[in-house]
Amino acid sequence: MKYYDKLIFEISKPGRKGYTLPANGYGRGLAELPEGLRRGEPLGLPEVSEPDVVRHYTNLSQMNFGVDTGFYPLGSCTMKYNPKINEEVAAMPGFIGLHPLQDGADGAKAVIEGLDKALAEITGMAKFTFEPCAGAHGELTGLMIMRSYHMRRGDTARTKVIVPDSAHGTNPASAAVCGLEVVEVKSNAAGLVDVEDLKPLLGSDIAGIMMTNPNTLGLFEKEIAEIASLVHGCGGLLYYDGANMNPLLGVVRPGDMGFDIMHLNLHKTFSTPHGGGGPRSGPVGVAAHLADLLPTIKVSGFHGNFGVMLRAYAYILMLGRQNVALAGKYATLSANYIKESLKDCYKLPIPSVCKHEFVFDGLVNDGSGPEREGATTLDVAKRLLDFGFHAPTIYFPLLFHQALMIEPTETESLETIDAFIGVMREIAAEAAADPAMLKAAPHCAPIRRPDETTAARQPILKYQP
Ligand SMILES: *Cc1c(COP(=O)(O)O)cnc(C)c1O
Repeated sequence: MKYYDKLIFEISKPGRKGYTLPANGYGRGLAELPEGLRRGEPLGLPEVSEPDVVRHYTNLSQMNFGVDTGFYPLGSCTMKYNPKINEEVAAMPGFIGLHPLQDGADGAKAVIEGLDKALAEITGMAKFTFEPCAGAHGELTGLMIMRSYHMRRGDTARTKVIVPDSAHGTNPASAAVCGLEVVEVKSNAAGLVDVEDLKPLLGSDIAGIMMTNPNTLGLFEKEIAEIASLVHGCGGLLYYDGANMNPLLGVVRPGDMGFDIMHLNLHKTFSTPHGGGGPRSGPVGVAAHLADLLPTIKVSGFHGNFGVMLRAYAYILMLGRQNVALAGKYATLSANYIKESLKDCYKLPIPSVCKHEFVFDGLVNDGSGPEREGATTLDVAKRLLDFGFHAPTIYFPLLFHQALMIEPTETESLETIDAFIGVMREIAAEAAADPAMLKAAPHCAPIRRPDETTAARQPILKYQP
């Protein structure tokens, strides 16, 4: 163990300080604080020098994994490289010094209007609201718009929303929070919405359907035109979960597929670093016939997460029409290249051409080792960390038991992708030759295998001496 792997509390020495204050200062000292305002007992902070503090935080930062430190193929999360110019734009003093109530912030208004126009062109929607502060928040906002649309027409019996079984978990959750009842529609063997299963669900109680296209398996819903006409035919609306717009950029638009309402995750598709839960922005776009409903739905104070909007606008302007359109094609090419290069060692439950991501279902048991079947997706994910790659999304979607969901994005070079493929093949070989070693991975990470259930259910977030 390296000395600075110790906790800062463990290197604490009673009486050591990271600062000095003169005994007779010029200002008003502690002794002059009224008795009642003073702390009775010391705070229990570690007592260390200033360099110790600096090293503590710097070393902590280096234990982190980010898209700036390595390949991060986290399916459904679009961990792509975020150009640094976005950060410079978001940090411009003229922007960060603004108050949302300030008069005459014409530059900021122009950014919002410019972004609105660009996104409308990219998605085929008429207008966006930027208030929602995350993808799930956008879903809730979109469903509120859907409900308002029916209410306005006096169509109050529409209380159900259809969600495919492959949907992202936030979809049914948002519907429930919005007070709508969720009805599940099944996927067929090809991983697409089963139109025959959908038909009997449609009726005068259906508010609409929530879909992702390409869906969470990375597959394009080829029947979308028929689905749109069926849902519209029963009086429902189509909601598009556009969290992962990457593969569609410049290829096809949700508005042209028949969707009425959608959200985008600016932090995924339009480039904002978003690890650890933030910062986010989930603008909601609507077709022209719903545009007048937008101002009636208020879901946040002021204008939304402006910093993320700035990054998205800088990103779109920097790429321009031509390169925005290439992003979708490269993301699709990268994913298919990895899928085809690994499908002899990892089970590929749905073999068709994918879009930006795809799902393996654990290792292929090729008979080369009796225990190979025993090596799980969790073991593969943990072992990847030893090679400096972040794990893909695992055990999601829930349609497969050993799901490994890989999304390389358009920003990785062929060399990086080949290196990842090489490591995945090596791990598959290790699973046959030495499964016990694989089960003990990671061997090089600061933490090995925590009890993930307890860590999630009873997190201990404070140092307890
Ligand atoms: C990430 C994601 C969401 C949720 O977005 P948040 O910003 O995390 O709330 C919704 N749907 C899909 C398909 C996603 O990938």
